[in-house]
Amino acid sequence: MSTKPSHSEEEFFAREEQEKKHQFHKKQKQKNDQAQRDLQKNLHFMKCPKCGDDLKSVRISFVDIDECVKCGAMVLDKGELDKLKVADNTVLRALVDVFKKDR
Ligand SMILES: [Zn+2]
Repeated sequence: MSTKPSHSEEEFFAREEQEKKHQFHKKQKQKNDQAQRDLQKNLHFMKCPKCGDDLKSVRISFVDIDECVKCGAMVLDKGELDKLKVADNTVLRALVDVFKKDR
């Protein structure tokens, strides 16, 4: 019996090694992508999308809205507009009054 690997065995181990490398690179890419997302979130979290200054939370009726301390831009999180839509006119009027405030 020969101890030399057959051609099909060599192919098998070569494919297995290639798959291991592929999985390693795939995991590395996932880690790098997540690190990039974490970095972007840390850079932009609670920052104004218009001027880049800090956002602070302000409560309008029962909805917390992020407002820029510099330019006054208001940012709604997902679902907050829907909360305002279902609210009665008092809430919408309160929101409009916020926009009318002298800054
Ligand atoms: Zn701003």
